[in-house]
Amino acid sequence: MRTYKIAAIPGDGIGTEVVDAGVEVLDALAKREGTFAFHFDHFAWGGEYYKKHGRMMPENGRDLIRHHDAILFGSAGHPEIPDHITLWGLRLAICQPFDQYANVRPTRILPGITSPLRAVKDTELDWVIVRENSEGEYAGVGGRVHQGSPLEAATDVAIFTRAGVERVMRFAFGLARSRPRKLLTVVTKSNAQRHAMVMWDEIAAEIAREFPDVTSDKMLVDAMTMRMVIRPQSLDTIVATNLHADILSDLAAALAGSLGIAPTANLNPERNFPSMFEPIHGSAFDIMGKGIANPVGTFWSGVMMLEHLGENAAGRRLMKAIERVTVDPALHTPDLGGSANTRKVTDAVISAIRADNT
Ligand code: ATP
Repeated sequence: MRTYKIAAIPGDGIGTEVVDAGVEVLDALAKREGTFAFHFDHFAWGGEYYKKHGRMMPENGRDLIRHHDAILFGSAGHPEIPDHITLWGLRLAICQPFDQYANVRPTRILPGITSPLRAVKDTELDWVIVRENSEGEYAGVGGRVHQGSPLEAATDVAIFTRAGVERVMRFAFGLARSRPRKLLTVVTKSNAQRHAMVMWDEIAAEIAREFPDVTSDKMLVDAMTMRMVIRPQSLDTIVATNLHADILSDLAAALAGSLGIAPTANLNPERNFPSMFEPIHGSAFDIMGKGIANPVGTFWSGVMMLEHLGENAAGRRLMKAIERVTVDPALHTPDLGGSANTRKVTDAVISAIRADNT
């Protein structure tokens, strides 16, 4: 029987609560399937580790997880540590060296969830956002001089490479091709940013020629926010830069009902390194320790992990169990307007997995 080695990195805040729930659900699913097993290695890296050791993960941290089949991540963020340290010290310290350049974020209104767009039927909002995840505005290039003096200056330089744009475009067109509508929207800002964004558009047009069966269009990012709200039905697969997709995917998550539901995959499509799966929400310190974090985003990230591992049937079973649970308002956590807690939702998903006879 195949055993998948998974590195579980819960991180901080509610990350620990939802990853614990995710591990329980994935173990129950593997038992139900009976054809594979998971072996989880837990790594307590993050803010507390930083307070003891002055870094978010050990120096050889990446070596400890390099050979795992996948990474299940919670969130990085600590109230006493600046966000740029927690982000660059853990999540980006894994994503970038492991070349997880395609960040994939599906958005759907799950059964039983009310979108703020009440007139939109759940079948009318079904998107996947592909976020360029290795360069662009978050390349980490820049500097700061004359700190504290009136001459102080700071730069963050956006780096776009032909190789980086080509590979994420090819990935996005391929993903669009695999979906029934074969429709890709390329998000840009080439009216105002006339160097890198113009190259981005040109490369999108070049790659489009390799995918004649995919219909593509181009949207300025500002107009895109309106289109997501006003005409959500007109969108399917979306590709955007690191910064643009970061913002658009929070909007997408909110339009689909809650940040607590949305999953993401940081993929290294060539599989030279493990890919990483995580809910898109952060550490949410306001609700930490209360046991009310919505674990659905982590469960759905588990579905994406199963698909990546090639366990598609198990992924479908888990998604079905999640939808069985979201459809019941008695099983909604407070972010969805309900009063259920993490434990209750986790138990309900596990029961739905066990009860599924297909
Ligand atoms: P970070 O700084 O680590 O990104 P944050 O607390 O600023 O984290 P998010 O975690 O992204 O921001 O979430 C914003 C708010 O949404 C939280 O404060 C919380 O109230 C709510 N929220 C996010 N995720 C969940 C969840 N899984 N379940 C319930 N509520 C959530």
